[in-house]
Amino acid sequence: MSFFNNFGRGFGRSSRNKKQQQQQQQQQQQQQQQQHPSFLRTTSSLSSGQSSLTGSSSGRPPSGPSYQQQQQQIAQVPKPLFLSQPFVRTALVKGSFKTIVVLPKYVDMGEWLALNAFEFFTYLNLFYGIISDFCTPQTCPSMSAGPGIDYTWLDMSKKQIRLPASTYIDYVLTWTSSKLNDQTLFPTKAGVPFPLHFPMTLQNIFKQMFRIFAHIYYNHFETVVHLSMEAHWNSFFAHFISFSKEFELLDARDTEPLRELIESFEAQGKV
Ligand SMILES: [Zn+2]
Repeated sequence: MSFFNNFGRGFGRSSRNKKQQQQQQQQQQQQQQQQHPSFLRTTSSLSSGQSSLTGSSSGRPPSGPSYQQQQQQIAQVPKPLFLSQPFVRTALVKGSFKTIVVLPKYVDMGEWLALNAFEFFTYLNLFYGIISDFCTPQTCPSMSAGPGIDYTWLDMSKKQIRLPASTYIDYVLTWTSSKLNDQTLFPTKAGVPFPLHFPMTLQNIFKQMFRIFAHIYYNHFETVVHLSMEAHWNSFFAHFISFSKEFELLDARDTEPLRELIESFEAQGKV
């Protein structure tokens, strides 16, 4: 229920039963707050604040936080770990990746794109191999990438299906591997040209790889830090983004879940 719905309801008739319901709801929410981990607790406390706003506008003194306090709570929602200091600045190498992603002189564009796609895939596969023990259907029942983002997989009949993240990522890695090993898409023999739809195939591959980055950043960055991989991981992602920007392989909609991180990397002169 939106803030405005709740606000509007607050001006309506308020029966005794309704007040009792509100009190019950608040008690339930308080119980939930005690049971949930920190991130969910923040969410529940905000909805609790909305209920109390309804109560106060129907003539009762506010028992929950005021509107101002709610706004402060919204501002206080903790940043994801990867956007916090010092992690947002941690890197393996200094300087910008811009210089190493540009097409070298005398190198064929298709060869350069294919080589890099293969390398990004290989390293992403390795990184995920380390994280995969921590990404189970229990920890990650969906392919989430931050609040409100759940990627779905298109099945054979083009129907969107929700999969555990580990299954989704397994499908992406298998699908990408089959594309990279397809000689009609990524020819390795001299003189065989890249197909006309090669750029579109690459864009699809990069879009799917990006989703794995986003899932790991939002759900497994703590593990990345515990394993002391954050410098490698950040630099790998910065390289990936720098390359994607240079050859326009991702659009703004694709990269929205990690927009703040990318903007921070841009401000730091990394990408
Ligand atoms: Zn996961």
